[in-house]
Amino acid sequence: MSHIVIDKNRCKGCYLCIEECPKKLLKIGEEVNNLGVHLVEFDDPNHECLGCAMCATRCPDIAITEVYRG
Ligand code: SF4
Ligand code: SF4
Repeated sequence: MSHIVIDKNRCKGCYLCIEECPKKLLKIGEEVNNLGVHLVEFDDPNHECLGCAMCATRCPDIAITEVYRG
């Protein structure tokens, strides 16, 4: 089961990763971080994540720190 890890304090809320995910598994969440932005959430109830790392590669702030392929 693939999944990603988001560093909450690095995310600046540009939301480029949301556009990038081919499975549309990222969304704007309710939680606000220390930069005052709404964090991106990984939302994958049906276990569709490919572990492709396209989200992590796109992130300009290296806020998606790990991608597990399962
Ligand atoms: S691309 Fe990176 S900084 Fe931008 S919203 Fe996604 S995780 Fe946050
Ligand atoms: S690893 Fe791929 S499928 Fe999984 S959240 Fe990132 S872009 Fe989407």
